[in-house]
Order: sequence, then C-alpha cells, then structure tokens
Amino acid sequence: MQTYQMFINGRFCDAADGGWFDSENPYSGEVWARIARGSAADVDAAVAAAKAALGGEWGRMTASARGKLMRRLGDLVLANAERLAEIEVRDNGKLYAEMIGQVRYNSEWWYYFGGLADKIQGAVVPIDKPDMLTYTTSEPLGVVAALTAWNSPLLFVAWKCAAALAAGCTVVLKPSEFTSASTLEFAALTKEAGFPDGVFNVVTGFGQDVGAPLVAHRDVNKVTFTGSDATGAAVYQAAAKGLKRVSLELGGKSPNIVFADADLDQAAAGAISGIFAATGQTCVAGSRLLVQNSVREAFLEKLLALATQARIGDPMQADVHVGPVTTKPQFDKIMSYIDIAKAEGARCVLGGKRASGPGLDQANFVEPTIFTDVTNDMRIAQEEVFGPVLSVIGFEDEAEAVRIGNDVIYGLAAGVWTKDIGRAVRMTKALRAGMVWVNTYRAVSYMMPFGGIKNSGLGRESGMDSIKEFLETKSVWINTSDAPPANPFTMR
Ligand code: NAD
Repeated sequence: MQTYQMFINGRFCDAADGGWFDSENPYSGEVWARIARGSAADVDAAVAAAKAALGGEWGRMTASARGKLMRRLGDLVLANAERLAEIEVRDNGKLYAEMIGQVRYNSEWWYYFGGLADKIQGAVVPIDKPDMLTYTTSEPLGVVAALTAWNSPLLFVAWKCAAALAAGCTVVLKPSEFTSASTLEFAALTKEAGFPDGVFNVVTGFGQDVGAPLVAHRDVNKVTFTGSDATGAAVYQAAAKGLKRVSLELGGKSPNIVFADADLDQAAAGAISGIFAATGQTCVAGSRLLVQNSVREAFLEKLLALATQARIGDPMQADVHVGPVTTKPQFDKIMSYIDIAKAEGARCVLGGKRASGPGLDQANFVEPTIFTDVTNDMRIAQEEVFGPVLSVIGFEDEAEAVRIGNDVIYGLAAGVWTKDIGRAVRMTKALRAGMVWVNTYRAVSYMMPFGGIKNSGLGRESGMDSIKEFLETKSVWINTSDAPPANPFTMR
C-alpha cells in the first residue's frame, strides 16, 4: 500500500488535520493507496504559496527561462511515462494501451507551451493623439485554481497547466478524489525540473472539502474546471461571486453521423472508437450514432461484427479492448441508463448487462451495449451516460441529421462520415459543436483548440490562443509632452 501526501510550496506534506482517504484499483477492487485528505486550511496554505511565488523568483523569471523549465518537465514526463501510465491505470482502470499513449503525448504540451512562453507579445498602437506613446502588455492573470476529472488525470493537468505556467501564472490543482496519485507523482517531477516553490501545488481531497473553498478563495484569480455540467454550473456560480475568470470543460452527447455515401467499414471502426474506447468514459464519446436510413441495416451488421470482437478484461493486458468502469457510482449510473433505455422502448441489440466471468467479477464491468430504435427525445439520447452505451438513431437526409445532431443541450464534439466534400463542409458549418471530425473521431492535439459550446463549456484548451485564457491585457499610455493639457476638465 502506498501513501501519497499533498504538495504545497515545493514540499510534500500531510493534510492540516491529518486525514486520509483511500484510492481503489477499479480492476482488482483493492485499496492500493492512501491519499492526504485536504480541507480549507490546506487550500489556504497552497493559495498563499502560489500568490507568494508570483511575487518571488517565478514572477521575476524571464519568459524564456520559464519555457526552458517547461521543456525540462516535458523530458521528465516522457522519461517517466511507463510508470505514470501504470499508476493511471491502477487508479482509473482505463487501458494501459490508451494511457501510455496519452502520457507520452503529454510531454508535447510542455514542449509546445514552453516554446510559446517567450512569444507572448504586446503591440505598440499608432495612437490617434499627439505626443503619446501607447502599447499593450500581456500579464499573467495570477493564481489559477485547476480542478480535474478522473478519466484522464495527467492529460488535464497538461491541458490546463502548460498554458497557465507559460503565461506566468501559478497553480493550485485539485485532482479528482478517485485519481490523485499520478498528479502527485507529476508534482515531484516539477520539483525535479527546478520549478520554484509555490508555482505548482496540489491539494488532494473531496469536492466540498477542497474544490469549493479553492474556487471561492479570494486570492484565486482564475478557475479552470474539467468535470460534469452539474458541478461545472456550481463552480461557475461560486466563481461569479468573486468575479473570477472561468473556463469550463464539461460533458457531451456528441452525434457521430454516418451518411450512406461514407466508407462504411471506416465509419463502423470510427463509431466503435467513438463509444467503446475508454469504456465510453470520455467527454467526447460519440454516444449518439446517427445513421442514414438507407444503409441502417447494412451498417448495423458491420458495427455488430466489430463490437462483438471487443475483449473485456484486465486493462494492463495489450489484447484487452474494454476495461472496467472506474467508480461504483459511475457503474450504477450506467446500469440505470440501460434500464431507462429499455423502459423507453429502445431495442438492446448488444450487451445491456454487467459483464461477468473469470477475472471480471471483482470489478464493475459493463458489456459494450448498443440500442437501436432510439428516438432523439428519449433520455438515453439526451443525457450523458459516460459509459459504453451507444444509441443508434436513424435519419432521412442532411437536414434531418443536422436537426437531430444539434437537438441536445450539449455541444462538445461531432463526427461526420461521408465521401462528399461539399456535404462534409456544409455539416462542419451546421453542427453546433466546439469540435467536428470528418472521417475520423476522437483525434486531439496540443495544437488544436479543445472545448465545447452550449452546456459543454466555456473557453478552449490547447492551441496557441488558449494561452490567452490565462493572460490579462494592460494598456500603457505615456505622455511625451511637457506642456500642460489645454483643458484639464475634459477627457484627453
Ligand atoms: P465531477 O464534476 O464529479 O468532478 C470534477 C472535479 O470537481 C473533481 O475534482 C471533483 O472533486 C470536483 N468537485 C466536485 N464538487 C465540487 C464543488 N462543489 N466545487 C468544486 N469542485 C468540485 O466530474 P467527474 O465525474 O470527475 O468527471 C466526469 C465528467 O467530466 C463527465 O461529465 C465528462 O463529460 C466530463 N469531462 C469533460 C471533459 C472536457 O474536456 N470537456 C473531459 C473529461 C471529462
């Protein structure tokens, strides 16, 4: 059993009140680590450290030096990728094959944003007034509170913190209570890379105990959150009381739309990776599969042929495709949505049960599940399940695909499968989503903005512009004339 302290002001420490909580391995069911259980007192200490760091060595450091530290951190993430990925699997039960790819790729965020750090520039404005030099500077927003979800812990650390640190901010991060360990291992790497004390802090614990006081803290200037839309709304309201800047990466009910003219084999593989990869525990899950009626039966056949090949089991094994559900509450939620879908009249053509058998019974496995005869007004089509449950909905033509595709409260991602270039372009314009993939699904990069519209969130992570989420513009006016103003009682 391993013990993880939290990380405040460059040091690992116990919780102020000495509490602990357990971390469970979703596959083995064993408690494998105990984690320091933080409270408002720990939040106060971490925010004070982050604020002091802004006025200390970090605040005085050149942007180029900041960038160098970040690139060193990227090297360390890469060098420790296997170990970090194993820890993530132990905490969230997702496939090692997925997590090792994610952790290796994670280093690119540190390289990319490390490179951006000294390219943040202001502008000299050719002002319309005589004897005046005017320019803008971009300054760090200050102390950033970062709150993350359990499904890809270190990816979210990189998405939020690489941009925040490149901008010159400092961070207090609260990981999900289900998956704290890899973030604490990462904190040790920030120390090894040479980041000054207080620049990056981790306070572990529960949402009410740590998340809420962190969001409400008067010295926090910006809140960046990844999680469910219900918690996101509460975080948004709490942050509004302090008029803090907020970015939110929330849930989705993304349409994956297959037209009759698509390469149906490619589209079937895309539909599978949209919903069964990561056991459906991904915010961009293509959980509504919209299929043009003329190819619905043929497509379903291809889909079922692929889906029935899915091997369920130990997420550390290379030949396993679907791992356990990460948490018991999440498992219960998925099973309740399966019941809801059946009660609503959807037809279950695959799965629909807890998976059991040798090596499965100790964990919460859900069989890859496909419902057909789904209509878009059903709850199974409207609400985020966050599990391996696919709803297949038919449509007649492009206009109907757009109408159904957009008819949810979310707007995170969408997929379009077609060989018609004109249709592809029309669909990318018509779909109300932050990200649209054509003839591919679930592709991400440090270079491309990630985020949603409507109830899927606010702001973007990754891509050059995301650094602006952590910057404030200052306008500087310098009068170069010695003459007094003609009339001091008027605006200049
Ligand atoms: P969650 O909302 O339950 O928790 C997210 C984080 O908020 C956790 O760290 C939690 O402890 C904390 N929290 C809980 N209550 C809080 C409060 N009152 N104040 C402050 N913090 C609080 O989400 P989850 O179950 O961990 O993650 C799953 C959800 O995340 C899904 O809805 C999924 O779609 C979404 N998600 C979105 C993205 C994205 O980038 N858009 C990525 C991954 C996951």
